[in-house]
Amino acid sequence: MRGGSSVVECLLPKEKVAGSNPVHRSKEATERLLFPAQTMKEKFVKPDDPVLVKIAQGIKPEEVESPETAAIIECVIDVVYGKQADRNKPLLVGLAAPQIGISRRIVLIDVAARGKGNIGDLRVYINPEIVWKSEQESEWYEGCYPTSRVCGIVSRPTRIRILGLTQEGKSIEEEHEGYTARIFQHEIDHLNGIEFVSHITDDDKLHWVEEEEFPEYRNNEGWRKWSKKCPREKWEKIKGIQQ
Ligand SMILES: [Zn+2]
Repeated sequence: MRGGSSVVECLLPKEKVAGSNPVHRSKEATERLLFPAQTMKEKFVKPDDPVLVKIAQGIKPEEVESPETAAIIECVIDVVYGKQADRNKPLLVGLAAPQIGISRRIVLIDVAARGKGNIGDLRVYINPEIVWKSEQESEWYEGCYPTSRVCGIVSRPTRIRILGLTQEGKSIEEEHEGYTARIFQHEIDHLNGIEFVSHITDDDKLHWVEEEEFPEYRNNEGWRKWSKKCPREKWEKIKGIQQ
């Protein structure tokens, strides 16, 4: 099915993509993005894709308003909203370009997300960086779309200050707290090749959650006492670290 603003169109113009500052993505990722008949899940790279452990390339000032950058942003937006006509209902609360195979420093964050399905206020951040973190930390569950059945409890600073650029190239400095601060940290980690699992040192806090168990895990805060663990070896196997 071909939507009005499909991923295919959003990767154009091709000659620009192949120019002096090419969009960095694997051949496999390119094929996946160019293939229109796909579900949202198929647009994500596989959990063992090297792009997920790589430091993504920044967007230079002269690139901010370029067609290449606009194309990447359109791709990321398309994935978050899926094929939904109603753009008030994003499917994800955050996404980093490397997750769809594009190793550039662009994230999308739902700054209105509170963790239980509210209407989003999704914003694009270019070259986001955390310049301050609170000493106080809190724990909450995290998961990640490409490896959705692996979840876990991650402790993170409760407040952060970030610098970045808007889509229009305007410099911004913002403070965020709570769940939004957590999304920023999770997504900015992706730009640095870090996944949430690497923040979990206590194996009891690394969980295995089947799709049908998510409502219990997430909405009923089942994560606080989850009995199904994901052994570290299982995660390493998923990541291709261990065969
Ligand atoms: Zn993630």
